Amino acid sequence: MFMHNKRLQYTVRVSEPNPKLACMLLEQFGGADGELAAAMRYFTQGLAEEDPGRKDMLLDIATEELSHLEVIGSIVTMLNKGARAQLTEQQSSEAELYQMIGASGTSAKEAILFGGGPGLIDSAGVPWTANYIDSRGEPTVDLRSNIAAESRAKIVYERLIGITDDPGIKEALGFLMTREVAHQKSFEKALYAIEDNFPPGKLPGVEAYANMYVNASQGEGDMRGPWNSGDQWETVDDLNQVLPADPGGDGTASVGLGPSDAGALQMMTARLKSDPDADPMTGADLGAGPGAGRTSKGDQGGASDIHSASRRADSLTPAE
Ligand code: MN
Ligand code: MN
Repeated sequence: MFMHNKRLQYTVRVSEPNPKLACMLLEQFGGADGELAAAMRYFTQGLAEEDPGRKDMLLDIATEELSHLEVIGSIVTMLNKGARAQLTEQQSSEAELYQMIGASGTSAKEAILFGGGPGLIDSAGVPWTANYIDSRGEPTVDLRSNIAAESRAKIVYERLIGITDDPGIKEALGFLMTREVAHQKSFEKALYAIEDNFPPGKLPGVEAYANMYVNASQGEGDMRGPWNSGDQWETVDDLNQVLPADPGGDGTASVGLGPSDAGALQMMTARLKSDPDADPMTGADLGAGPGAGRTSKGDQGGASDIHSASRRADSLTPAE
């Protein structure tokens, strides 16, 4: 069960209201790399985890992320406190209220729909979605995704710290940012505590393709580095050499069809057959004007282009 402690994980001291900053901070409340996404990501992974160590870690971190959600939501609430009261009680003039909503940055939704409270939206007003969570139920995959998620959260906090000079907010965001660094380290350790963690999953890669580097983009700017040269790599510059990659294959796509499917396919192919010798007149030819390029009208097309252009100009001239 969850227990709620009335103290925050980190003290929130906000110097003065700032609805615009509140809107930007929503990125870490209801955004793709925000705290709700992090909490739900680790909570659902933790529920399904069989390994007792990883299960404990995932539920520890999931619960801490909920505490971060509380901290960032509290900062947003403090930043909006004045605006929220004014909006709710409508003490200011219409013009002042209108200006206040405009001051909340890109998201009027925050002011109108949520009354200045912390909505589960990102800084652009986009609602939170479970699509932000990309768990696949395989620890060697999910831990890598968690490591990436923590590094994204770290960078977003870094950017948010860069756009405020409120010392109390900077300090709290610095705490949250640092906790993401710590989480990344835990996930890295947990990943490498699985002895065979690469490639992910149970099936091995096919040996013949595992060391191949395909130099598929060629020309000026071609480079060699540890990612494509050295003992680990067999770099392929002549693409025809590996086209198709399977030995003995002809690189075509085929499928075995039953009589019913084959019959239907034959009918469809016959009905949609194109005639490469036809040069049919089309609507584009008939309506072609200036800028149409070559059309089936042939040489006359050019002449009639000029005429139709002047006709159009005539019709635009007001009648006298
Ligand atoms: Mn967090
Ligand atoms: Mn985290």
